[in-house]
Amino acid sequence: MASSRNSFTIDVTAEADADVVTVAGVIDENADLTPLIQLGARPIRVHLRGVRRINSFGVRAWMDSIRRVPITSNLTFVHCPPPVVDQCNMVSGFLGHGTLASFYAPMTCAECDEQIDQLFETEVCRANGGKLPLTPCPRCGRPMEVDDLEEQYLLFVRDTM
Ligand SMILES: [Zn+2]
Repeated sequence: MASSRNSFTIDVTAEADADVVTVAGVIDENADLTPLIQLGARPIRVHLRGVRRINSFGVRAWMDSIRRVPITSNLTFVHCPPPVVDQCNMVSGFLGHGTLASFYAPMTCAECDEQIDQLFETEVCRANGGKLPLTPCPRCGRPMEVDDLEEQYLLFVRDTM
């Protein structure tokens, strides 16, 4: 179970409005991102929900591939999990010329200790002054907070404001 969760997969499906690339598992030196650079004729939407971890070799392999995606292509990243958001905040140009459209933030409730990964739209945060919109706890209804420093976690939002 653990090994299948961690193994790297990349799948491309042609949807009506875009080619959707679903990446999951661990991105390391063995991650083959070739399918990504073969696209670009149609909009590309990269779905990253399943990415567990990216090591330093993986960052290099990833950026080599991202740079080879045609600059003219419409490149969007959706459902970016915390390991991807962390890289976007640390590594300049991590998404190439692409746009990070939506992401997960690890939210906790100080009141009842509930923890959830909540999906947010980058545009909504931008319109909210670079902050997350109010997220009520599903258990007790109190506002939740990022299980991290919100300012640091949302650096990538303000970078492009
Ligand atoms: Zn709560």
